Amino acid sequence: MTTAGFDARDVVAAKRDGRELDGPVLRAFILGYAKGEIPDYLAAAFLMAAFIRGLSDAETADITAAMIGSGVTIRLGALSRPTVDKHSTGGVSDGVTLVFAPLAAALGLAVAKLSGRGLGHTGGTLDKLESIPGLRTDLSPAELERQIEAVGCAVAGQTKDLVPADGALYALRDATATVASIPLIAASVMSKKLAVGTDLILLDVKAGSGAFMKTPEAAADLARACVRLATARGRACRAAVTDMSQPLGSAIGNALDVAEAVRLLRGEERGRLRELTVAFAQEALVRLRGEDPTAAKAAAERALDDGTAAERFGRMIRAQGGDARVVEDPWAVLPAAPVRHEVRLPAGGALASVEAEDLGRIAAALGAGRMKKGDPIDPAVGLEFFPKIGDLLDAGERVAIVHARDEAAAAGAAERVLATARLVTGPVEAPPLVHGWHGGDA
Ligand code: URA
Repeated sequence: MTTAGFDARDVVAAKRDGRELDGPVLRAFILGYAKGEIPDYLAAAFLMAAFIRGLSDAETADITAAMIGSGVTIRLGALSRPTVDKHSTGGVSDGVTLVFAPLAAALGLAVAKLSGRGLGHTGGTLDKLESIPGLRTDLSPAELERQIEAVGCAVAGQTKDLVPADGALYALRDATATVASIPLIAASVMSKKLAVGTDLILLDVKAGSGAFMKTPEAAADLARACVRLATARGRACRAAVTDMSQPLGSAIGNALDVAEAVRLLRGEERGRLRELTVAFAQEALVRLRGEDPTAAKAAAERALDDGTAAERFGRMIRAQGGDARVVEDPWAVLPAAPVRHEVRLPAGGALASVEAEDLGRIAAALGAGRMKKGDPIDPAVGLEFFPKIGDLLDAGERVAIVHARDEAAAAGAAERVLATARLVTGPVEAPPLVHGWHGGDA
């Protein structure tokens, strides 16, 4: 198929019939959609055809290139520190970015981060950050670069300038059940990463009940697809396949996640969210500064415990127009839900599994996520879910708190939360946090 006499319906039909599309045609389709020339219904039909039929490596690379070409790119050539970007494929209670960006900045690296919004049952860093009053995520490329040099980190969204085609498609995929496709996720993630010229791309590819990829094997396929896109463009990329068979932290919402991130940044909390954030900071120091892994890990732990990472978070918030008092006293500035409803176990046992995706959906239904494209979100509502797989729990133990707008919503959510946890009598082993790493130097 060629672009002469281009008709978007032919592109949809070709993909529906399982034909491979060439670069110029895909480019015309993606750019046409980004400019509003191709309607949502045709783009949605294309996404579903691509979801079902799949996309070849060449098509995935062409879509990625078209999305990058839909906006400007940022070179970051003039920065005085090594630059790193980190991205998660999406999970539940996945606040790694909120902690990683200021932590890496405190360690002398520069973090340039283009983030996404909540997608499906997963939370989005932009939505979380915007629960801080005043905070802007629509930074222009020049603002992004200036802030990274001055503060060491910036977290911004796609704007009309930066990868706008991904912004548009991402929202449409969320609304049309076409998110969980390896090539579509790889193109979406990597368009944002490749549009910014960092020295290192770190990817957190989630696997398990709360991830788009339900098994470590599928997640490893996604990790390899992302690494191939980076390598083809001469970029260094390391991708970890990590556990999402349960929420990573405890907060599932927006303001709740920010409050949890602040506790971590102040060294007040231990657990898997901290461990994984430290692992990414360690990897960045090893790759970019050639540091010894043990020393790198110790430096990251120290920056969380001595307040330097928290101080950097405050500077980032201030630079983006937000109320930096959130670092000292999160609930003095964050919006809180009017109803807090404790969830207690009717019977005890060992926690064997958690339907993390359901927990994400319960939080979304309370208002923390979107039911359809463009919906507003409620930053105050969500859940806290405390136990981890392998924990021994007593009857009557408090396992969650629902934060809701009213009692009826809270009671309904509480019942659904209890149904996500499966308890058994025997001992249960905790799943590994990191299943493995992929990729390397460019
Ligand atoms: N994160 C992204 O940026 N895109 C996806 O499609 C999924 C997760």
